[in-house]
Amino acid sequence: MEECIFCKILNGDFGTEFVYENDYVAAFNDINPKAPVHVLVVPKVHIASLNELEDKNLMGELLSAVRAVAQKTGLKAYKTLINTGKEAGQEVFHLHLHVMGDK
Ligand code: AMP
Ligand code: ZN
Repeated sequence: MEECIFCKILNGDFGTEFVYENDYVAAFNDINPKAPVHVLVVPKVHIASLNELEDKNLMGELLSAVRAVAQKTGLKAYKTLINTGKEAGQEVFHLHLHVMGDK
């Protein structure tokens, strides 16, 4: 999706460094971190929110990537957050899982 900021990041438009990446998902630092480590895990295909996610294998990949990000960034304890819908605070409509913690 051309106008989606996370699709642009995934497309390499800004040269964003990925904290973690595989065939299905990528993870990068949040631009406005709310914790010492604040990483966003996103599917490589454009899915607007959790409500539009049908693929259960991809659900597993996303959670698996959260754990991989925690391991890679040295987080033993962390919060994982998914905002779904504008009223719940979702600002970017490309599904993302927040991974937040302190080392
Ligand atoms: P949410 O409120 O759950 O939709 O979260 C969107 C998150 O995306 C916020 O924490 C923003 O700081 C973050 N964000 C927005 N634009 C960018 C960007 N270009 N690169 C990295 N993170 C971003
Ligand atoms: Zn997108």
